[in-house]
Amino acid sequence: MPAAATLLRDIFGFDAFRPGQEDIVNAVAGGRDVLAIMPTGGGKSLCFQLPALMRDGVTVVISPLIALMRDQVRALRAAGVEAGALTSGNTEDETAAVWRALDEGRLKLLYIAPERLAAGSAMGMLRRINVSMIAVDEAHCVSQWGHDFRPDYLRIGELRRALDVPLAAFTATADAETQAEIVEKLFDGRAPDTFLHGFDRPNIHLAFQAKDGPRKQITTFAAARKGQPGIVYCGTRARTESLAQALREAGHSAIAYHGGMEADARRAVEQRFNTEDGLIVVATVAFGMGVDKPDIRWVAHADLPKSIEAYYQEIGRAGRDGAPAETLTLFGPDDIRLRRAQIDEGLAPPERRAADHARLNALLGLAEALECRRVQLLRYFGEEAQPCGNCDLCDAPPATFDGTEAVQKALSAILRTDEWFGAGHLIDILTGKVTEKVRARGHDGLPTFGVGRDIARPMWQGIFRQMMGHDLIRPDPDRHGALRMTDPAVPILKGKAQITLRRDTLAVKDRRPAVKT
Ligand code: ADP
Ligand code: ZN
Repeated sequence: MPAAATLLRDIFGFDAFRPGQEDIVNAVAGGRDVLAIMPTGGGKSLCFQLPALMRDGVTVVISPLIALMRDQVRALRAAGVEAGALTSGNTEDETAAVWRALDEGRLKLLYIAPERLAAGSAMGMLRRINVSMIAVDEAHCVSQWGHDFRPDYLRIGELRRALDVPLAAFTATADAETQAEIVEKLFDGRAPDTFLHGFDRPNIHLAFQAKDGPRKQITTFAAARKGQPGIVYCGTRARTESLAQALREAGHSAIAYHGGMEADARRAVEQRFNTEDGLIVVATVAFGMGVDKPDIRWVAHADLPKSIEAYYQEIGRAGRDGAPAETLTLFGPDDIRLRRAQIDEGLAPPERRAADHARLNALLGLAEALECRRVQLLRYFGEEAQPCGNCDLCDAPPATFDGTEAVQKALSAILRTDEWFGAGHLIDILTGKVTEKVRARGHDGLPTFGVGRDIARPMWQGIFRQMMGHDLIRPDPDRHGALRMTDPAVPILKGKAQITLRRDTLAVKDRRPAVKT
């Protein structure tokens, strides 16, 4: 059976599971009957699509919305997966192609509209082919109490009995009556493995800091948690070594871990981490899969993670025992540049690259958030929450200012120099600094020269970083990382939209006391 994590990356192009997905995927792939309750947008489809690829035979997917089915089939095909749909919207050719793929045993996922189950031919056909499992999307449609009742859904139970295969049911509706009815109608009352997780991990304190001497920021954070087991995630292998060294010099017990190490050496680190008190592992993302330590008290990111999903997964390794745990994520313009470049230089097709940029934007939005981080994080996964009182922004709301004018000045400096320069030179222009480069290019003659004198240089650096975080400007890999304006910046430049920025991101320091255990 192909490994779930490999398929996740190679077929779907995701670097990490979303909350809850991995457990559900394992149960479904293992042939269990499953009822999974996840918020809309939480990533349900992956929970049956991925197991469908791991199992032999065809997965039959029943979904109430034809448009949705067609979208999913199109996306799966684009990813190289054999999928087809039998719906009333099909052309004859499409239907013939699906039958052929079924006959030839090629199809992995067959989407069927529930009303097709009423037609005897579909039932007969499904009995003849090698069906490995049934997946039911929007399973609450089987419930007569709900507002989405679909009489045809009642036939699914019949189908399951006829085929005698595992069934996985998915819904976003969590109330007890609906759940009970799903169990009764789809599973004949035999309790399936049920997954109902909120995504929140309330014991984990969330914090971000703009990079301002990362080595010092990490050692300061660790010093306040001395003797407590923690993980420091780094973007590169070299950095794991140098940061582990710095932590040892500061008197911690710290060790590096990365994918370039021999398997034996890696296992030895995992072993030490599980058994030794207060060890810090300084690692690349390669560290984590084999770690099942419930009392990790803190996780720090010395470099920005790849995506919001990766962030959630990595901080989620802390505090599995439910006791308070602390996290700190550092981010800076170089991280943003690196992550953008990794996406742009990757081999992924354009749509996937756009989606990767969007996922990175979600994480940057979280980094530059103005209000409760947890509210924003959970909203991304489809869950509404109240301000948590356990994140840096709830602890100390940031000072903000109307950044519209400053952003307009910065954008105009970018445009007047034809989008060919990086932040350093642009800030020289804005603050009216006559450097050799400024003089050589004649930039001291620009109308924007010196218009930002009222703002100090470090503050400008923060503004440029926040502009990158809000995706108003992007480094162009074909222009040595020169900053270019993006479409969302246009309304701000034209004075049609405003933007609020944080004043303090450069000056925040770790003021939280260490967790007492
Ligand atoms: P729903 O739970 O509403 O059916 P979907 O399955 O349509 O949600 O997923 C919502 C979005 O989340 C889709 O755009 C999907 O590509 C994305 N998604 C799902 N799983 C992941 C993941 N592990 N990492 C990143 N994005 C994901
Ligand atoms: Zn909060």
